[in-house]
Amino acid sequence: MPHFPIPDAPVFIIHYHEIGLKRGNQSYFESILKRNIQRRLGDFPEARVRHARNRLLVRGLKSEDAPEVLGRLQKVFGIAHISVGTEVEATMSAMQAAARKLVQELDFDSFAVRPKRAEKHYPFTSMDIGREVGSAVWEVSHARVDLNQPDLEVYVEVVQDKAYVFAARAPGPGGLPVSASGRAVVLFSAGFDAPVAAWRMMKRGLSLHLVHFHGQPHTDDASVRKARELASVLAEWHGRIRLTIIAFAPAQEIIAVETPQRFRTILYRRMMMRVATRLAWKNRARALITGESLGQVASQTLANMAAIEDAAGFPVLRPLIGFDKQEILDEAQRIGTYDISARPHDESCTLFMPRRVATAAKLEEVIEAESGLDIPWMLDQLMAEAETEVILPSWWVDGVSNR
Ligand code: ATP
Ligand code: MG
Repeated sequence: MPHFPIPDAPVFIIHYHEIGLKRGNQSYFESILKRNIQRRLGDFPEARVRHARNRLLVRGLKSEDAPEVLGRLQKVFGIAHISVGTEVEATMSAMQAAARKLVQELDFDSFAVRPKRAEKHYPFTSMDIGREVGSAVWEVSHARVDLNQPDLEVYVEVVQDKAYVFAARAPGPGGLPVSASGRAVVLFSAGFDAPVAAWRMMKRGLSLHLVHFHGQPHTDDASVRKARELASVLAEWHGRIRLTIIAFAPAQEIIAVETPQRFRTILYRRMMMRVATRLAWKNRARALITGESLGQVASQTLANMAAIEDAAGFPVLRPLIGFDKQEILDEAQRIGTYDISARPHDESCTLFMPRRVATAAKLEEVIEAESGLDIPWMLDQLMAEAETEVILPSWWVDGVSNR
């Protein structure tokens, strides 16, 4: 994209095919997407975001802002693609002039004009635009028309009484706008899987509340520092995000002393599920998210997942359940969490890890194993020590009003 010239008063044209399909909810999704974009451009007070026929238009920015703005928009879920171009009156001569100006400094041997009309009431058809704008481009370039594999594509979109002429088009991340689907609590360990799982559900429109359990003082503070840094990476996509940090050692100590060792891992996880459920109630979340993947480790067999899920008060979403480890690592690279996750940390659980782990725990046996614990009291203790931090993205500006 950067090798295309950005015009002086650029207009950003934002397309969102998936939310366009959800007819009943379309305006709801559009208004959330619009708000998410406005927040993201809070430090560009001149920027104006407007709806126009299945698109959002951002005006008021300068051409030198374009690379930064594009980089940010490419992390806004719900956006299918972003174009940067010139806005002119929807007349044939104005479109031709804009196209001439656009291609004048570009070097290309073949081109195609890609016309599109948002409505059908214009005095010209899409074919007319293709032909007339095509001949204007030919006048300045003498390049040949190639509709299949052109060097350059000149897009002309007619929306209401304006036309947008552009050559530069960048992919967005797709998905649904964050918070359009509601909220979930993520069990946010500091490994590779949980941040990728969080990212995938964010892409499906969930806003997130993160919870990290650490084993201090039996472990160092590496996992907490990693969790914070991973949360910062996610915040670039999500916006402001809350991370609740919970000292889990007191619960682990009790479980380790009071219960048979082969169920320990499952009992730790059941306790985590209960804490996450409480946090979900408190924060109006309606689901829990984990980074579990079937068979990846001993605790992630079907029987164990069932025994763990039994303690959850909300549906447990496991977006990585069918992923291979390598697929998760590749995704972590793309999202930008890989290097942070790769740093070593003491696992809070391994410290009190049993020598033998039950891989097919029966629910009755698990429930029997924890029957001697005062679970409500343990939960109160864990919640009393919980600390919630607000993690801000680099672009955050307080109090951005609807512009
Ligand atoms: P990850 O790479 O996400 O750490 P993992 O492969 O190490 O996962 P497990 O340790 O079995 O797998 O954890 C499975 C899931 O349980 C994690 O993805 C996470 O959702 C949750 N979980 C585990 N440990 C913690 C923790 N200390 N704090 C919060 N959630 C946790
Ligand atoms: Mg882990």
